[in-house]
Amino acid sequence: MTARNARPRALAAVLHVDFGQCTRDGRWLSQPSARYECYRCGGTEGPVTGPHPVASFVEHVKRVHATRCATPPAADAA
Ligand SMILES: [Zn+2]
Repeated sequence: MTARNARPRALAAVLHVDFGQCTRDGRWLSQPSARYECYRCGGTEGPVTGPHPVASFVEHVKRVHATRCATPPAADAA
């Protein structure tokens, strides 16, 4: 099977992470940030800003959102 023959899968969620910009001496020119959009339940989490909040946010989303997001995907028909 080739990738061309693979069936497309619906996008369930998007985790946006901006890694920011840091100088060589450790000063942040722009802080990292992150937010999460879930297409299963329609929920959003974040945004959070800063290197430590972003790191713990990513872990939180992976661990916690999946356990409480039990809403099935919305039906295409009205
Ligand atoms: Zn969800």
